[in-house]
Amino acid sequence: MVRRLNWHVAEVVDVRDETAAARTLVLDVPDWPGHLPGQHVDVRLTAEDGYSTQRSYSLAAPADGSRLELTVQRVDDGEVSPYLTQVLEPGDQLELRGPVGGWFVWRPTDTAPVLLVAGGSGIVPLMAMIRARTTPVPFRLLYSVRTPEDRYYAADLRRPVPGLDVTYAYTRTAPPDWPRPPARLGKADFATAGWPADFAPDCFVCGPTGFVEMAADALQALGHDPGKIKTERFGPSGG
Ligand SMILES: Cc1cc2nc3c(=O)[nH]c(=O)nc-3n(C[C@H](O)[C@H](O)[C@H](O)COP(=O)(O)OP(=O)(O)OC[C@H]3O[C@@H](n4cnc5c(N)ncnc54)[C@H](O)[C@@H]3O)c2cc1C
Repeated sequence: MVRRLNWHVAEVVDVRDETAAARTLVLDVPDWPGHLPGQHVDVRLTAEDGYSTQRSYSLAAPADGSRLELTVQRVDDGEVSPYLTQVLEPGDQLELRGPVGGWFVWRPTDTAPVLLVAGGSGIVPLMAMIRARTTPVPFRLLYSVRTPEDRYYAADLRRPVPGLDVTYAYTRTAPPDWPRPPARLGKADFATAGWPADFAPDCFVCGPTGFVEMAADALQALGHDPGKIKTERFGPSGG
């Protein structure tokens, strides 16, 4: 059955800077129906003259009553993301619709090992999966970012969690003495930071379109079942 999604009014209750260009919005949505890690919402902004536009944003945390978290990367010449990251403040309202998406989801009852592969802001829905994990299901995260300053959720991911391995791969500047020189991800990164294909992990890949295609190809080349590689592309959305 197709479920009709209604627009909800969300109030901003807190904002948190993740990096110089990315901000987490904590929202209160009184009639929120709940969601699964990996799902996203459509955000709608309407100007005083009635002009309205919408964009998709992943949910950054698991369901928690009426509380939702989104993390938005500012696209400098963008129409919506500069407003969400630089103008919105606690007390402001926006409209959102969701949850959207039924394929790119991880359920806390799933028991297979999990490989998460993030490119830049693609970490957002994967972080919801990490935050939703309540059993010792083994998780590995391979997170590609330009520089250490571009890491989202750095404090959360620094905290040791049994069964969660985090590997950063820097593309432009790595911290001093970092063993891996800055480079885009390659097959060797997936072989060392991922799971062997024999373990039949559930793989979730999220980031810009080119990144997602490269990662899915590399995982298939390493023998992973294409049916267990789930992808989410953060291309331009809405309009
Ligand atoms: C399912 C889904 C989930 C998403 N989740 C997130 C999220 O959690 N956090 C987040 O920050 N973004 C996310 N996005 C991207 C988001 O929807 C917007 O596209 C983004 O915020 C830019 O909107 P804008 O209005 O600022 O830019 P626009 O005015 O739409 O575009 C300005 C310029 O930037 C280019 N552009 C737009 N979006 C991107 C992009 N994503 N990558 C590269 N170039 C782009 C456009 O082609 C254009 O040239 C998601 C997209 C999808 C499809």
